[in-house]
Amino acid sequence: MKIPNDGLTKDAVLKGLEAARADDWPWREGKLFAYVFDGGKEIEEIGKLAHAAYASENGLDPTTFPSLLKFENDLVDMARRHLGGGPEVVGNFTSGGTESIILAVKTARDAFHAKHPGVQPEMIVPVSAHAAFHKAAHYLGVDLVVSAIDPETYRADVADMRAKITDRTMLVVGSACSYAQGVVDPIREIAALAKEKDVLCHVDGCMGGFLLPYFRRLGASVPDFDFRVPGVTSMSMDLHKYGLSPKGASVVLYANEALRKHQIFACSAWTGYTMINNTIQSSKSGGPMAAAWAVLQFVGDEGYLRFAEGLLGAKNAIVAGVKAIPGLRVMGDPEMSLVAFTSDELSVFAIADEMKTRGFHVQPQLKLGTCKENIHVSINPSNVAHTDAMLAALRESVAAVRAAGGGPTAPKEMAAMLSAQIEGDTTGASLDALVASIRTGGDGAGLPGKMAETNALLNEISPVAREKILVAFMGSMFTPRPE
Ligand SMILES: *Cc1c(COP(=O)(O)O)cnc(C)c1O
Repeated sequence: MKIPNDGLTKDAVLKGLEAARADDWPWREGKLFAYVFDGGKEIEEIGKLAHAAYASENGLDPTTFPSLLKFENDLVDMARRHLGGGPEVVGNFTSGGTESIILAVKTARDAFHAKHPGVQPEMIVPVSAHAAFHKAAHYLGVDLVVSAIDPETYRADVADMRAKITDRTMLVVGSACSYAQGVVDPIREIAALAKEKDVLCHVDGCMGGFLLPYFRRLGASVPDFDFRVPGVTSMSMDLHKYGLSPKGASVVLYANEALRKHQIFACSAWTGYTMINNTIQSSKSGGPMAAAWAVLQFVGDEGYLRFAEGLLGAKNAIVAGVKAIPGLRVMGDPEMSLVAFTSDELSVFAIADEMKTRGFHVQPQLKLGTCKENIHVSINPSNVAHTDAMLAALRESVAAVRAAGGGPTAPKEMAAMLSAQIEGDTTGASLDALVASIRTGGDGAGLPGKMAETNALLNEISPVAREKILVAFMGSMFTPRPE
């Protein structure tokens, strides 16, 4: 597409925006168990009004826009109280969990450099921790040491973390909860280890930080995970997940200003304006911040508690419902409203495809180490009324896959050969055919449709080869094709 010669009318532009969504997932129907945390019409509306009202204001300069300074301080204050932090806890509003995590890792790195100049820092990250920690390590030049999880509970193995601590360790990480299986790591033990070894400890509460305190108030068993635990030095918590805010909303919190100061970037070494940034973005829309502020004001504590009640009920129903389906097995004992299940007989990838033909989106996850391939569901409020329908569709999907012989599997020898070939391929030539086959397996729009065969193959090849394929696939998807 070219920039149109003459601008279109407002009507035509708005029509274009609507037409573009024709193939988007109809998430308001409550059958998407991922990506959108939908609190319903009214919450969506208030978030969007606030977003639009502050879309042009710029967080680059809080002295010009004290409104945004107020929203951010209010949000951080609400977040630190929610997570058991005293008035010494400080933090910032960020664009999402990934940015919160990258900033926490940057802060830990610079605090470590200040204490140990010239030493290359490491962080110890359970294999269940979010990929954002790998991204942070990759972006920031920090070494990441993966630690094990218990193969039955999927929680971090603290003995393994202890064994991996060295003089170069700057940070240890625990999740409350982990994304993949929705379980809370033993934060008390992880933080105690950090304290004993005089290293920092980040708790990733991107998913669970907001909701778990409500689950606890409802009587669910939730282990301690927040600033009340001695040794916890930073936390991340997303507002665009269970805070039900429009996307672009998270907070990163630190035990005190002495630590947070390592996050703030100032630059006087250029000819432009004086640059001071808390976060990665410089020019920064006020929209997401105003929207998060508005949504928290609108829903209120009692409102979130009622949402939590629905989510807890739905989680318990889904765990019980999946356990009652022969051939399926729930992984671990999730505290959160995130549930993963697997099968020792049937292809979970084929089951996910069958669910899609029945209108439900669930998320396949590939195997890694002791963790088998599985299906993940993140339950959001819009799903609560559709729990029974989802379980019915799951029973049908399992029956369909069983009737079809269990679903595709990939030959292990072929996968091993392919892995070796891709890992050794410096030109990427071996990837072109694969990427083309993934694309043509799709719906004509260049997006993959039935994914069971592709996933079965990806599941068998090495993680390094997987990453190379995915990079090539992404590049190919994001290449504009002239009409
Ligand atoms: C979602 C999530 C993140 C990353 O957050 P984004 O908002 O997607 O960048 C990090 N950790 C956990 C546990 C998450 O669920």
